[in-house]
Amino acid sequence: MPTYEQFIEKLLTFRLVYVLPPLLLLALIHFAIWYASLVPTWLDPEEFKPLKLKKKEWLNHNTVLLRFQLPKPDQRLGLPIGQHISFLAKDADGKDVYRSYTPISSDKMLGRVDFVIKTYPQVVRTSMRDRMGTRLENPLTQGKMSQAIVKLKEGESMLMKGPKGRLTYQLNMKKHIGMLAGGSGITPMYQIACAILDDPKDRTEVSLIFGNLTEADILLRKELEALAAAHPNQFKVQLSSPIQHLAETFLCSE
Ligand SMILES: Cc1cc2nc3c(=O)[nH]c(=O)nc-3n(C[C@H](O)[C@H](O)[C@H](O)COP(=O)(O)OP(=O)(O)OC[C@H]3O[C@@H](n4cnc5c(N)ncnc54)[C@H](O)[C@@H]3O)c2cc1C
Repeated sequence: MPTYEQFIEKLLTFRLVYVLPPLLLLALIHFAIWYASLVPTWLDPEEFKPLKLKKKEWLNHNTVLLRFQLPKPDQRLGLPIGQHISFLAKDADGKDVYRSYTPISSDKMLGRVDFVIKTYPQVVRTSMRDRMGTRLENPLTQGKMSQAIVKLKEGESMLMKGPKGRLTYQLNMKKHIGMLAGGSGITPMYQIACAILDDPKDRTEVSLIFGNLTEADILLRKELEALAAAHPNQFKVQLSSPIQHLAETFLCSE
């Protein structure tokens, strides 16, 4: 028969075995969050800085996923929800070209940032008419930044500056948000929708209508459908029917 002291000691040891590991884990998580908040974010609103391309993957015929590596693995980009970043590159004539882009990765992501960017080919057309048959003034088709992005190789850098933009999304700032996006214009919508659906405290409902020329042009389709399936009462997405015939007549007619 154990004594009273032995019994208490046994009880304490037994409980500690179960209680201590989760407590330690919790403390570790809190420490990691606190430590990450000490690391300064990467973006600078005043100065363009180079960021190294870690991965480049073509998602379809004209759209590329670019994954850039932040200098420190425990660093955040520092982009408020609803804002975007400015890229700076040289065009084919060596002139500076500035364009805006919205990451598809969350700002909670440590050590990297992902963009989905649609590229426009450099094609010179000798003549081009609109749907009414009127000759267009300037039939030159050129994606200036697109061409710099197409040429950018893994290990090379892109100059970036930010945050930019007037809108900063705040938790529950609206009851219901209606979004209307076309083509690569989906990225700012995706950023806000993800932030809302990722936060259990955010009760905002989101309805998105997303138009595209053809089915092959629908960016982030799997991701959007997965979000809609996971949050059926909060997020509704309507993909527009592809309008192949219109795209062909409007863009390619002589
Ligand atoms: C806030 C914001 C966020 C954005 N986020 C993204 C994003 O995440 N992903 C993304 O892909 N895009 C995004 N964009 C769009 C992006 O900024 C660029 O506009 C896009 O990448 C095209 O740039 P470009 O230099 O390649 O093409 P540009 O050279 O600007 O050409 C754009 C279009 O105009 C046509 N064109 C150009 N010159 C002529 C001419 N002389 N005559 C007739 N047609 C012409 C081109 O063929 C092409 O179709 C965003 C824009 C904003 C404002």
